[in-house]
Amino acid sequence: MSTSRFYAVEKASNRKAVWAVTPSQKVSDYYGEHVFNRRAMKKYLSKETYETLTQAIDTGTPIGREFANHVAAGMRMWALEKGVTHYTHWFQPLTDGTAEKHDAFVELDGNGGMIEEFSGKLLVQQEPDASSFPSGGLRNTFEARGYSAWDPSSPAFIVDDTLCIPTVFIAYTGEALDYKTPLIRSTEALNKAAREVCHYFNEDVKKVITYLGWEQEYFLVDEDLYSARPDLSLTERTLLGHESAKNQQLDDHYFGSIPTRVQEFMKDLEVECYRLGIPVKTRHNEAAPNQFELAPIYEECNLANDHNQLLLSVMKRVARHHNFRVLLHEKPFMGINGSGKHCNWSMGTDTGINLFSPGKNREDNLRFITFVVNTIMAVYKFNALLKGSIASATNVHRLGANEAPPAIISSFLGREITEILDKFENSSIEDAIEVDEKKRLHLGIGQIPELLLDNTDRNRTSPFAFTGNRFEFRAPGALANCGSPMLALNSAVAYQLQQFVKDVEALKRGGKSKEVAIFEVLKSYIKTSKPIRFDGNGYSEEWKIEAQSRGLDCENSVPLQYDAYLKPEVIQMFEATEVLKKKELEARNEVKWEVYTKKVQIEARVLGDLSLNHIIPVVIRYQSVLLDNISKLKETFSAEEYETLSAEPRRLIHKIAGHINAVTRMVDEMIEARKKANRIAEMREKAIAYHDEVAPYLDEIRQHIDELELMVDNQMWPLPKYRELLFMR
Ligand code: ADP
Ligand code: MG
Repeated sequence: MSTSRFYAVEKASNRKAVWAVTPSQKVSDYYGEHVFNRRAMKKYLSKETYETLTQAIDTGTPIGREFANHVAAGMRMWALEKGVTHYTHWFQPLTDGTAEKHDAFVELDGNGGMIEEFSGKLLVQQEPDASSFPSGGLRNTFEARGYSAWDPSSPAFIVDDTLCIPTVFIAYTGEALDYKTPLIRSTEALNKAAREVCHYFNEDVKKVITYLGWEQEYFLVDEDLYSARPDLSLTERTLLGHESAKNQQLDDHYFGSIPTRVQEFMKDLEVECYRLGIPVKTRHNEAAPNQFELAPIYEECNLANDHNQLLLSVMKRVARHHNFRVLLHEKPFMGINGSGKHCNWSMGTDTGINLFSPGKNREDNLRFITFVVNTIMAVYKFNALLKGSIASATNVHRLGANEAPPAIISSFLGREITEILDKFENSSIEDAIEVDEKKRLHLGIGQIPELLLDNTDRNRTSPFAFTGNRFEFRAPGALANCGSPMLALNSAVAYQLQQFVKDVEALKRGGKSKEVAIFEVLKSYIKTSKPIRFDGNGYSEEWKIEAQSRGLDCENSVPLQYDAYLKPEVIQMFEATEVLKKKELEARNEVKWEVYTKKVQIEARVLGDLSLNHIIPVVIRYQSVLLDNISKLKETFSAEEYETLSAEPRRLIHKIAGHINAVTRMVDEMIEARKKANRIAEMREKAIAYHDEVAPYLDEIRQHIDELELMVDNQMWPLPKYRELLFMR
């Protein structure tokens, strides 16, 4: 039954034929067909070029210009055969999403004609006219221009008629202007540091690889309803809207079947992902109505992040064909679960060992404890940074509310690991570590079950949980580039592992054996890092007080959370791991403050418009209806009867007038606060002013309007309501 003129009607989806697969086609038939992967390389490159390229990819060695010509020629041939006409360098600027600039494959041939051209030069490096991307002052049009450079470790792919080449985006002076550059540097730092630690246990390890498996949550809304809500169209979140009588109380969405229309969308999305070599595996409903999740099989960190960024754009495109819009905002609806992007993180060796897997033998278990304890130690020391790495104007609405981890970083290890660490801490070396006849070290205290029981019994409130063979960082937001939290985590752990080696070596120089040194260092780390371990309820008020007393970072203001990047120990950490220099950190923070400011600024503008141009005029109209009603009552009834009959409409008019006054007054004040903040030149100060002086109005104004929503005639209300937006038919 229609409750307002906005009710979404069931629509036939408008599927593009290209996504359709015949029932007989298996995923393996088309998986990766839009990717210049090793199979395509083998076919389109000479044997020599193929071997040199794959070796360069595996070892990270630079690729020469002449050689790039060969690769480009093969790539071009492959792409042209698939009907591609354009190419682009695809990069990840410090704003949300990805950027690209399309060029056609054609060059003048000098004889009045055109030829299809794509040289090594164009593959390897380009100068996108990217002066409009924020650079925190590192690169402005007068100084040096930025350039994008090919990242051979992530394969080129095709979207529509365009060959996309994954690239890093850097200033001519070498500073990173994107997420990819420092992410790659951080995996390299972790490789070096972790490899060295592995050598205490196993000399054979040549490479340590960082893995990332993300879980992407998102909302779908009907395209028509989305277009009728300026706040959704412009900010991706509802700045207004009273809770629906039914929302997620019954948890029926989580367990429910996926609606047909959504299922069709998901099928097409998956086909497109497979063609692009994104190994998506699980899809399901999430807790909130209209909320869903997609997760792939985990991959090497840099590639996994490229795949996540690519997924976000593919998702939006496919959704349009089904008359949906995807919402990636972390909190599109108040009072309802937000969307995160859990980052499952682990390290593995080239010898096939997962460093967070307890393993089959006792030897592996000491190595396992070493990596777990060092990770916990890094998270402890850099908890403020990790929080800064996931902080944003949008994610802030999600953290700490409705099933989202709180804005305090702590780590849940589960019963088994906790018991083992406690035992380790209280045992003597003879009990804790054994050295066998082959001089191999292993854990003497008990055995760690191969399949950790706590694996199933997970603490959903923990921002950083150990989940059996990996850590799950749950605080990152749905919209974020995983590069931000991953590069912070990789660098912090790499730095910590460097420190571990230093500490062990120092004890060895003091005459202790390797075994004793490792034992003593781990024991002291277990003690020191205790404050970060928390297995209780992260949502509780007591935890906030407790966390404060443990010295964990409890800062709530996003602009101030970014300060964590510029603490001396953090700068020291990023420089020691060669991931980011001080100058880069400073510039990146400028961008973060600027993006924060702009997002709040846009929300404030949109809410101002909505209030004054959409809501208040309608409310006044409804007030007139009531006034009209009152005067008619007066004309029709005796004075005595009128008194009784008009009591309610008169009371309503007073209430409504109160809200109208409050809203208009606060919109004015908010505009003033914005004007004042806009006069501040310094980015950090401006962001703080937006946080302290402007943002609070958003909530206050909303409260009044949401109350008006309950009073005003449903037929007159100008915006689709929560019950319409949230329950797909
Ligand atoms: P849950 O919702 O229970 O957390 P999912 O199956 O939705 O589990 O997601 C688990 C994610 O963890 C997937 O992306 C998966 O690829 C990833 N993952 C599994 N093992 C590892 C690992 N060793 N390292 C990194 N990611 C992993
Ligand atoms: Mg999950």
